Amino acid sequence: MSPKKKKKLTPLMQQYHDIKEEHEGAILLFRVGDFYETFADDAELVSEELGITLTKRNNGSDQTPLAGFPYHALDTYLPKLVKKGHRVAVCEQVENPSEAKQAGRKIVSREVTEITTPGVTMSEKLLEHKRNNYAAAVYWEGKTAGVAFSDVSTGEFALSQVAKRQLNDLLQSVTPAELLLPQRLKNSVPESLLDYNLTFIEDWVYEGDYGYNLLTDHFETHSLKGFGVERQEIAHTAAGALMHYLQETQKASLGHIKRLQAYENQEYMALDGSTKRNLELTTTIQEGQSEGTLISILDDTITAMGGRLLRKWIMRPLKRMEPIRDRLNAVEALHVNHEVREKLRDELGQVGDLERLISRICVGRANARDLAKLKTSLAQVPRIKMQFNQLQEPLLDDILNRLKLLVDVQERIEKAIVDDPPASVRDGGIFADGFNEELDELRNIARNGKNYITEIKDELSAETGINSLKIGYNKVYGYYIEVTNTHTDKVPEHFIRKQTLVNSERYITPDLKEVEEKILSSEERSKTLEYELFEDLRLYVAEYAEQVQQIAQALAELDCLQSFSEIAYRNNYCKPAIADDQVIDITKGRHPVVEKTLPPGDPFIPNDIHLENEEEQILIITGPNMAGKSIILRQTGLIVLLAQIGCFVPAEEAHIGLVDKIFTRVGASDNLAAGESTFLVEMNEAANILNNATRNSLILLDEVGRGTSTFDGLSIAWSLAEYLHNQPSVAAKTLFATHYHELNELENMYDHIVNYNVSVKEHDGKVIFLRKLVRGGADHSYGIQVADMAGLPSIVIERAKEILQNLESHSLDVTDSNGTLEEGAKKKKAAVKKAAREMEKQEQIDQMSLFQTQVDPNIEMLMDKLEACDPNRMTPIESLMLVSELKKLV
Ligand code: ADP
Repeated sequence: MSPKKKKKLTPLMQQYHDIKEEHEGAILLFRVGDFYETFADDAELVSEELGITLTKRNNGSDQTPLAGFPYHALDTYLPKLVKKGHRVAVCEQVENPSEAKQAGRKIVSREVTEITTPGVTMSEKLLEHKRNNYAAAVYWEGKTAGVAFSDVSTGEFALSQVAKRQLNDLLQSVTPAELLLPQRLKNSVPESLLDYNLTFIEDWVYEGDYGYNLLTDHFETHSLKGFGVERQEIAHTAAGALMHYLQETQKASLGHIKRLQAYENQEYMALDGSTKRNLELTTTIQEGQSEGTLISILDDTITAMGGRLLRKWIMRPLKRMEPIRDRLNAVEALHVNHEVREKLRDELGQVGDLERLISRICVGRANARDLAKLKTSLAQVPRIKMQFNQLQEPLLDDILNRLKLLVDVQERIEKAIVDDPPASVRDGGIFADGFNEELDELRNIARNGKNYITEIKDELSAETGINSLKIGYNKVYGYYIEVTNTHTDKVPEHFIRKQTLVNSERYITPDLKEVEEKILSSEERSKTLEYELFEDLRLYVAEYAEQVQQIAQALAELDCLQSFSEIAYRNNYCKPAIADDQVIDITKGRHPVVEKTLPPGDPFIPNDIHLENEEEQILIITGPNMAGKSIILRQTGLIVLLAQIGCFVPAEEAHIGLVDKIFTRVGASDNLAAGESTFLVEMNEAANILNNATRNSLILLDEVGRGTSTFDGLSIAWSLAEYLHNQPSVAAKTLFATHYHELNELENMYDHIVNYNVSVKEHDGKVIFLRKLVRGGADHSYGIQVADMAGLPSIVIERAKEILQNLESHSLDVTDSNGTLEEGAKKKKAAVKKAAREMEKQEQIDQMSLFQTQVDPNIEMLMDKLEACDPNRMTPIESLMLVSELKKLV
């Protein structure tokens, strides 16, 4: 603002601009009397977002836009703004006008007391019970990236350091509501981060030791060694920036952030973003909803903490045998003992959100109801312990040990707070009678003010012997003692005369004034005292934050385990056998979500799957569209994932050799909604799989190559399968669903490639889906029958049958008995040419552009190039380069 303009501002607007300048990037809600006002751009934005009236304020020469709402509407409007992705600073009047006057100020002082952002909030209106709300900071140097994330509503604060290419996957597990980046990246944010709600932090925050010192100051340690993250220096910088931001926004104490956790990526099974999406773990692919996802089936947690932890467990399956077995054994113990589980569920039902309660208590946002809820929740702990203390499973024992009783805290709150306390902490009525002597006295005075005066009168009469002594009240002198002139000689010395009337004298005494003071202000005083007592109690409880957090964590785990066993019981899941081998053997496996969504009378058909590195390593699964290929792929992925989060699985029996990563690649057409260059996406994902899979991975490939022409697609699918078979380092167990029947030839060529198909039956020209996975390749694609069932006009179906017959009579099999692709391609080229010629001759259907294109000279060049290549010797990159060359010819 130019100095000239500045001059014209009223003191209020000057103050506004000064504060606004300090909080750039946030909407400033500026308290003026009973309103929160916004000005200028903020006002336009707020009026638009909230649908409130925009007015003009005459501010000297210019008319400043203005929009405001009454102070009591803050709880409604603030969450609305934040939900829309804005950061909002609330600026309060921090003194009253008389204080300002005394201090010689023209206007009252104002300060920003709270900043709420999408990722940093304690507001219950913005938080979902069963979902963490994270702010994350990322920072990278070279090929290494550091990530820190914190949910200020629960006190969680963690960091991780990963290779930069893993950054997206890590962020996808965390799904932060807000992502912090250095300011200097503002104009060059990587595309993959653009979808996050971004906030830019000044660059100096990332420099030198600033961040590290901020962290050690906060955690009151000399170094970060104790947290096991000392070497993750790049992540320290991210964590420092995050702490800086939390301190800037959360004006209150961050005392509930007690620990810096190391998020050890290598402890968990790697699931890339597309795999999480394709397996529909927490959101569906199409609508992005939670209904129809794995979590919607699995979540029968009772507490909010349990719900949040379950989400994390699903996103981070384990890799090591021991913790998985521990979880499975605990689930089994609870599964077998129905009664224990039932009681446990009942008791957990009385437990509040301990993590968020203690956070609110620590930062000073709690009310007496929160303390009361904390008390009842803590009172549940011994009852919960009693339910399962005889089960004797290592993990349950461990949980039992971590469930410490906080009897002192519980009793202290119990004694202090009334049964049903009010929501406000400033209006009294919080503390029980008998808790505090002074409060009792104050309340007594307020309740029995008049009686008290009568008592004093009686005492004074007795003391002085003046029976006619009266106590009266007026506005000027307050309470006074009135003695008629006949008795004034008996008035003791400590009476102070205040007024002389015709027949009497009026006095006060220090005692009376003290009582008066007490009566008049007792209510005010008792409110203030209750607030002080509440603060004392709050601070006392806050001291136990770490213990409460530990209890919360233990209860959350217990809740997840009981949820697993309840779901297993209800849905008839079995306990998988876990082994450190390379076998996946599932008997009568089902898809946990699809089996729940089929209409009545349409039962889910279970299937067996056997995968083994040195035997059936790659299953080529053919079958017509809609046969159930994708479902088999997905259910296999989900069963492995379920086993590795420690859950029972939808199968009759399952042996799961531990998997380090699951990859999925779903056919391009299924992804069309995303509107990306589908083929490129498909190839990027394929490249990712080939670069990162190991022998211990599980790969699910669904219709790879669909995004391009048949020859390209088939060639790529073929060479991918070969590569996965032949390269020892990536020879992962693979399910390969495809409509390219040509791939069935691979079985004859390679030891560990086996053909399966999802069987169908033809009856009266219609296809009946049997949904059974059986040995051998499918010989028929039934595409036309499926199209018929889908309701294509019969004229189209009949014509398609004619064309198909024509093509089939020219045998379009790509491969010969030796199975080489080159030979197959030659044959195909000739067959296509011949078919096209004959079709032209016989029916003169010039409009069949399919065939026209195929005799195009470009196709010939394409064929030549294909002929010249040797897929057996090509690297994936060479294949990709070839594909893009071929693509140019199309
Ligand atoms: P494909 O991948 O072969 O085109 P899908 O796997 O997508 O077919 O399955 C198509 C539909 O068939 C599913 O949406 C589901 O309704 C049904 N389906 C698939 N597998 C089964 C099964 N095992 N039991 C019952 N219905 C199934």
